[in-house]
Amino acid sequence: MLTDYHVHLRPDSGDSTAERYFTQENAERYRETAAERGIDELGVAEHIHRFVQSLDIWSHPWYRHWAHDDVDEYVEFLRSNGLKVGVEADFLPGREDRVANFLDEREWDYVVGSVHFLRDDAIDVHGEPDWEPWDIWRGADPEKVWARYFETLGEAARSGMFDILAHPDLVKVFAGKVPRPDGDLRRFYERAMDGIAEGDIAVEVSTAGLRKPVGEIYPAPAFLEMCLETGCPVALSSDAHVPEELGYEYERAVEMLQELGVSEIAVFGARERRLERLG
Ligand SMILES: [Zn+2]
Ligand SMILES: [Zn+2]
Repeated sequence: MLTDYHVHLRPDSGDSTAERYFTQENAERYRETAAERGIDELGVAEHIHRFVQSLDIWSHPWYRHWAHDDVDEYVEFLRSNGLKVGVEADFLPGREDRVANFLDEREWDYVVGSVHFLRDDAIDVHGEPDWEPWDIWRGADPEKVWARYFETLGEAARSGMFDILAHPDLVKVFAGKVPRPDGDLRRFYERAMDGIAEGDIAVEVSTAGLRKPVGEIYPAPAFLEMCLETGCPVALSSDAHVPEELGYEYERAVEMLQELGVSEIAVFGARERRLERLG
């Protein structure tokens, strides 16, 4: 079994309208590419901030900029095109009830939970001039950012709102392009582990990091090792934004999982999880 659940049907760029990408032809391209690459389970998890209904959750400029699509049309589109129905939702402390309302009103196969923001600042907008005022790296102490990031990740896991914990050490995305803490990073990972242990969530292994400045799989093997000690299952995805990225460098992810003794991966439907043999 190979899965790709954390998938976007379009690039994260300004002209990527739903009209252009939520088409039968595009869905077919994704399904065909997944089949060619031996991916048995394919689903889509669009960013929550792409939906107008997300403005009931947050009015951050990032949300106001991107919120154009109707979430119920999106769910219907995926169902009628044979794709598992997911969404990538932000964990926003203090807004859990609003996110829960958004999620409860629709029938998902799974919900991917991400930490992209710490309060109003974004982890992953460095180098985008329009978003500089919200770039967490514009002068923050890396020790503090990493500590807050992993604490928040643990809270996201513990919240029980999500089925999959996305790109768990996203904070490393820019590697040496932003300040980074020294030494053994497990002192940060530890901050997330109680939440992960208590949260009954699958931890995502994502090959997206291989396409980013950091050039590594999310999460680092040391992080995954600590998660596995808590007994949590693993979900496998590419975070593809074009069909060519489906199953991206999965050989490396499978090799890492096998080295850590992982032989099963999480499979989802109607927010139920089961384990299937990896590979
Ligand atoms: Zn993400
Ligand atoms: Zn994503």
